[in-house]
Amino acid sequence: MKEYKLFLGGKWTSTLSGKVIDDINPANGEVFAKVHTAGPDETEAAIKMAYEAREFWAETPSREKERIFIEAAACLEANKERYREILIEESGSTFIKAMGELAECSDILRAAAEECKRVDGAVFSPEAEGQMSYFIRQPLGVVAGISPFNYPLLTALSKVASAMAAGNTFVLKPASDTPVSALIIGEFFESAGLPKGVLSILPGSGSVVGDRLVNDSRIKKITFTGSTDVGIGIAEKASKSLKKFTLELGGKNPMIVLKDFSVDKAVKAATFGAFFHQGQICMASNRLIVEEKIYDEFCSKITEAAKGLKVGDPHDSSVVIGPLIKEAQCEVIDAQIKDAVSKGARLLLGGTHEGSFYHPTVIADVTPEMNIFYEESFGPVAVIVKAENAEDALRLGNDNHYGLSGALLTNDLSLAIKMSAKMESGMVHINDSTVMGSRRAPFGGVKKSGFGRENGSFSTDEFTEKKWITIQYGDKSYPI
Ligand code: NAP
Repeated sequence: MKEYKLFLGGKWTSTLSGKVIDDINPANGEVFAKVHTAGPDETEAAIKMAYEAREFWAETPSREKERIFIEAAACLEANKERYREILIEESGSTFIKAMGELAECSDILRAAAEECKRVDGAVFSPEAEGQMSYFIRQPLGVVAGISPFNYPLLTALSKVASAMAAGNTFVLKPASDTPVSALIIGEFFESAGLPKGVLSILPGSGSVVGDRLVNDSRIKKITFTGSTDVGIGIAEKASKSLKKFTLELGGKNPMIVLKDFSVDKAVKAATFGAFFHQGQICMASNRLIVEEKIYDEFCSKITEAAKGLKVGDPHDSSVVIGPLIKEAQCEVIDAQIKDAVSKGARLLLGGTHEGSFYHPTVIADVTPEMNIFYEESFGPVAVIVKAENAEDALRLGNDNHYGLSGALLTNDLSLAIKMSAKMESGMVHINDSTVMGSRRAPFGGVKKSGFGRENGSFSTDEFTEKKWITIQYGDKSYPI
């Protein structure tokens, strides 16, 4: 049985508290690994090291930082079969999802290598005689990241890489269900020769390690991805010390399908958007809002498509639906389905599970009276809502406290432009699913999906402070 230690300031370190947890494979319930967990002492040690390393890392030339990111990417790429197995066995990722996640992670590291050369300022044209005026960007100092289980490597790595590229040192607390998928980030940077102290990865509970990071005054920013309820708690605590924070939270993302669009193409996009990674994606297309005229055809075709999705061993490259992270989530979905059906929804497929494997589920005639219209299921459920027309579809789409991603499927370009501007979400994808990644575009939500934007220059903006500097080189006259 493999045992994983803490990555404390760059050194693999045994837990001081002696707390080693069983890390469970969600597909078979067996112990996948033993993981050392951090408590208050290790958290304090990680913060102290990050604090002490902050000036050195900020001053490290961008060429050296670039080298480190490129070598970290090379380590990931050289070991991707082993990392793929970790993602499959620890988080229930299917083979296809794990391979996709690793490819994106390699892009993240290579994009960070580029971005560390672009921590730029600007010189302003002179406003006063004899004055030079410019601004520089400076790293914040120590940043802490708290990450979720669903894309356990990607969400964690994108925080670590963006913040470190901007010159910050970093303490990461990964989700307790998937610590190893984040600890491997330590292997990438160890092999790249990252200086000691710059990065720590501390498996441990949210209420102990997470809470300490949020409350410590040496940490200047929290970058959090996870559920809205936990995000609100973090925002409250961080606000008390005026700590910066970025929140990437949940979503109940509308995919609007208008009557002029090809039903076959819409079903392909919706099947991917609703079922990829068992629906455990913040951007999942989890409200399919379909115009009346094509509604019945859409319902029957997506049901057929969902029937064809293979459920089973996530190692099998033909499997699309693996296990949910915990069997308890199946009960949450069961309750949502029961509530919807009792209020008039039609269950067209699924609604059952075996252990942690929830069967692909299609539920139609969902209305705002039903809990599943508003709540995340975080499972393989296509929720279909009927709209009278485009205006009604937009109203239904915006009727939600979340606002992460939206999709709009229509051939009417001018309507698409008008509607996309009115969709209440941080991201809109026209003629595609709601699930989309990018290393450069601003990623983030509005309403209860959080705020702040991540990726590329948007992350650099979030992870730096702008400082205005002037130089008076002429003779200045003052009013007094
Ligand atoms: P979660 O339960 O909110 O946990 C996320 C992280 O917060 C975990 O590391 C957790 O630690 C930690 N945490 C829990 N309580 C805390 C506290 N009091 N103080 C500090 N940290 C605390 O979310 P999840 O179940 O892992 O992930 C699913 C959610 O994430 C969904 O809502 C999904 O939509 C959202 N998500 C959003 C995005 C996005 O980019 N918008 C991306 C992915 C996922 P423990 O594991 O130790 O409890």
